Parts: sequence; structure tokens; C-alpha cells
Amino acid sequence: MLGQMMHRPLSIIEILRFAAEAHGPAEIVSVRTEGDIHRTTYAETYGRVAQLAHGLAGLGIGQGDRVATLAWNGYRHLELYYAIAGYGAVCHTINPRLSAEQFLYIVNHAEDRVLFLDTTFVPLVEALADHLPKGLKLVLMTDRAHMPDSKLDMLCYEDLLEGQPTTYDWPELDENTAAALCYTSGTTGNPKGALYSHRSTVLHALMTAVTLHTSLREGNRILPVVPLFHVNAWGLPYSAPLTGAALIFPGPKLDGASLWDLMEAEKVTAAWGVPTVWQGLQAEIAKRGRNPEGFAEVVVGGSAAPRSMIESFEKSGVNVCHAWGMTEMSPIGTHGLLSKYHEDLPFDQKMKLKSLQGRRVFGVDLKITDEAGNPLPHDGKSQGELFVRGNAIISGYFKNAEATEAAMDADGWFGTGDIATIAPDGFLVLRDRSKDLIKSGGEWISSIDLENIVMAHPKVSSCAVIAIPHPKWDERPLLVVVPAGEDKPTKDELDEMLLEHVARWQLPDALEFVEALPLTATGKVSKLTLRQQFEGYKLPDMG
Ligand code: AMP
Repeated sequence: MLGQMMHRPLSIIEILRFAAEAHGPAEIVSVRTEGDIHRTTYAETYGRVAQLAHGLAGLGIGQGDRVATLAWNGYRHLELYYAIAGYGAVCHTINPRLSAEQFLYIVNHAEDRVLFLDTTFVPLVEALADHLPKGLKLVLMTDRAHMPDSKLDMLCYEDLLEGQPTTYDWPELDENTAAALCYTSGTTGNPKGALYSHRSTVLHALMTAVTLHTSLREGNRILPVVPLFHVNAWGLPYSAPLTGAALIFPGPKLDGASLWDLMEAEKVTAAWGVPTVWQGLQAEIAKRGRNPEGFAEVVVGGSAAPRSMIESFEKSGVNVCHAWGMTEMSPIGTHGLLSKYHEDLPFDQKMKLKSLQGRRVFGVDLKITDEAGNPLPHDGKSQGELFVRGNAIISGYFKNAEATEAAMDADGWFGTGDIATIAPDGFLVLRDRSKDLIKSGGEWISSIDLENIVMAHPKVSSCAVIAIPHPKWDERPLLVVVPAGEDKPTKDELDEMLLEHVARWQLPDALEFVEALPLTATGKVSKLTLRQQFEGYKLPDMG
């Protein structure tokens, strides 16, 4: 027997309509590429989003068409998120840090009809103009006064909106209609597209709003450093309006000093982003001798947050939530907020728990399997490939049957490519990306484990551990360190620290110093590039 309830389709524009009514005056503050600070509210934004939808109609966009964005975090980018989805088209966010080749691959693969871009990216698009798909319309996200001279034929964003009605007759869409498209940065092969639906997006917003409730609540002011151009800024464009939290968009300047100043000026309560960004902010906090006023929480994810970083925030009174997720998961899968029953644990134990990847959010199922695909127990010891299933997880990649086939198991779970353990109390521990694990004499060494320990050394600014092929052991670890200053750490010093936590056979065989680690388009250490840099490297016992 079926229930007798109305079936109202879940719809993205409904989030903003709700925010405009329930949290109308809540602010959206943006550092603009024009150089100034712009302030608006959810109520005003809803009106401008309607104007933008009329503008999209004027461009001849059809339902299901892909409309691309190449832009920093700012109010116009947020308007595009809502107008495109509400219109029934697909908002395709492009990561400007991709290589030219990947950028062109994505634009062509997605068959984008229009590209909305920030002024910063005009040179990038000019350089690729001859290779862009024929008929791709370009819209510059600025007003008439700031339109630059360019060989490109570009429309002006504010012209599209000007004079348009501030209401729009939003179509009632099937909740499974595609709403947004994001390609994973793909360290190997071509990028792969995750195509989100209205339903998955609204459910993800609800799931995360319930879980990350210390950030996501009315009256809070959230700084998304995590970009709108990748993984939907961890869902913040949807979850913040839903809860009434204000959004403070940092625009293009993401260095520690710029972030500190913005946070202080705007009384940011919670900041969300990848560990590399927080390294910059922590250096600035050390320089100025205090946190920006009101700074109470950091949500960190995208790659493993080192324990030293977590401890340093926590000691200064900033609550740390270490989260794990993937583009393919909308993206949040687990979170590291502790519960009431953890409150009485000693500080050290709390920090230990916080440096794990945390517990699942509602709507995400986790399983780990052995190489034959058999499920392994959640005993905190058994280590296997992590598979996920849930309401906001892809069922396949956009127009890519081969990658879909490789990622999904026979029961419809998605293979994350991460190697993990899950404890009986639900805490997930990522041991490594499967391709980054170091296989030594039939045993595995976790590069993440070694990196986390070494990161805590005061003479280390950042580090990475990679596998070097070895004739006897198969692979052995090489430790690559960016020193914090002139006084470099010695291998003995680091070994001593490592030996407090790992077995002697897991120690790196060699230590190399570099000025900087190569980063991927999403700000993570690119182990692929690092392995290429050290190709042919001879460890001490290899002659
Ligand atoms: P992306 O789709 O670009 O967000 O990358 C997802 C991948 O980033 C995951 O499969 C993990 O390997 C890694 N990742 C994300 N968050 C964390 C975290 N908190 N700790 C360790 N690795 C992470």
C-alpha cells in the first residue's frame, strides 16, 4: 500500500524562494573582481535571479542545455547557480586551474552553449578562442563600465539583467532533471562529469544542514573558500540559504592576509576550505598574534587535514570539522564533529578523533571490500577499498560508459578509489588513495599516515610521501619536504618522530627537499606530478 501524500518535486529554485521569504535580509557579501566589496541579501538575489532567467531566455537557452561558468566565488556566480537550474538548464562549473587541454575537452564534452566568465579569465579564454566550440556565446560577469577591450565577442552580464522583470514563472520540473555538472579534476585520463539532479542537490543540502549544524544556522557568517567552480563549494550555495546563514565570498584573493582581513571585517564565524588554504591563514594568524574576531569554526576537507593543523586551530578556540567527500558525492560523505558523549574525553583523544575522516552523514552508506569485492567488517582494522551508496551519489559518469563501468560494482555501489578502515563506532579512516599506497614486500604503507606525522615537525612547512619502484621490495617510500625555514630537518630527526607512531620498516628510505609541492587544479598535492618529477630516482640501497 502506498502512502497518501502529495508528491511535490524537490527543486533548487525553491531553496532560494524559501530563503528570500524566511531569511530575506541575510547577507551575501562579495569581494568583486572589480576590486570593491558588494553587499546584497537573499531577498534581493531572488529578484535578480528572475531577471537572469529572462536573460537566459533571451540568449535562446533551452531546457537541458549546458551553461558554463568560469568564475570566482561571488554573488553573480551564485545567481547563475540558481537561474540556470531554475530555468531547467544545467549549470556547468569549470575549474580555471585546469590545463588548456582539459578545459577544451570539458567545454566540448559538455557541449556548452554559453560561457559566463569573470574578467580575470578573459586572457585565458582569448588564448583558447580559436579552439572553442563554434557558436559558444560568451558573457562577461561585470557591468558595462568594466567591459575590457578584447578580441572576443562578449556580452555584458548586467546588460542581460537590466530592465528585466524581477519575477519569473519558474517551470515545474521533474525532480530528477539535471541541474548542475562538475568534472572531477582527474589526475589521470580525461576529466569525468558528475551530473547532479534537483533531487540530489536538495537532499544533499538538507543532509548537510542537519549534520554541519554548528556552521549552518541562521545568524552565522560563512566564508566559502572552497570554490563555486569545484564540487559546488561543498554544497554551501544551497545549504547556507536553506538555513539562513550569510555567505561571505572571497573573490580571487585567497592568500592568508587577504582572508584574515576579510574575516575580521565581515565577522566571519565559519570558514570552509582545503588544508592548503588554512596553512596560509594559520601563518597569518601567527604573524598577527590572534584570530580574526568572531572566528569560531573551520570546516576542512578535500585532502587529509594534518593533526598539527587541527590542534593549532582548536587550541586557539576554533572548532575544527574535518570532512571527507568527493565530487561524485555532491560532495560531503563524512564529517568530524564530535558528539556530546565525546565531551569528557581528554584533549589528546579528541584531537585523535578529529584527525580521522569522521562519521557518515545521513543518506550516505559506506562499505569496504577486499580485492575480490567481499565486504569487510567495520572493526577499525580491516582495510579495503571504500564504496559508497546514497541519495546524492552519482549512478554513472556523464556520457562516459567506460568510466561508469569501471567505477560501479555489481550491486550499484560507487568505488571511491580510497583505501579505508571503518571503526565499530562509525569513524572512517582514509589510509590512502589506492594509487598512492606504497606496496613494500607485500605489506602496505600509508603515505597519509607518514605525512600527517612529519607535518607536525616545526621545521616542516609541507610534505608528501611517494612510492619509488624498488627491485627487492616492489616499492619503498620517499619523503619530499618543503622546509619551513633555513634550518632544514635531518632525516634522523624526522625518523625519530615517525618511530613514535610507525614500525621501522615503514620509515621513508630517503628524504629530499623541494621549494614547493606541485598542486592539482583543486589545490591538492599532485602525487602524480611528484612521481613524474622523481622518475628514475635511486634510493640509497639501489646503487
Ligand atoms: P574531489 O572529488 O576532487 O573532491 O576529490 C575527492 C578525493 O579527495 C577523495 O576520494 C579523497 O581521496 C580525497 N579527500 C577528500 N577529503 C579528504 C579528507 N578529509 N581526507 C583525506 N582525503 C580526502
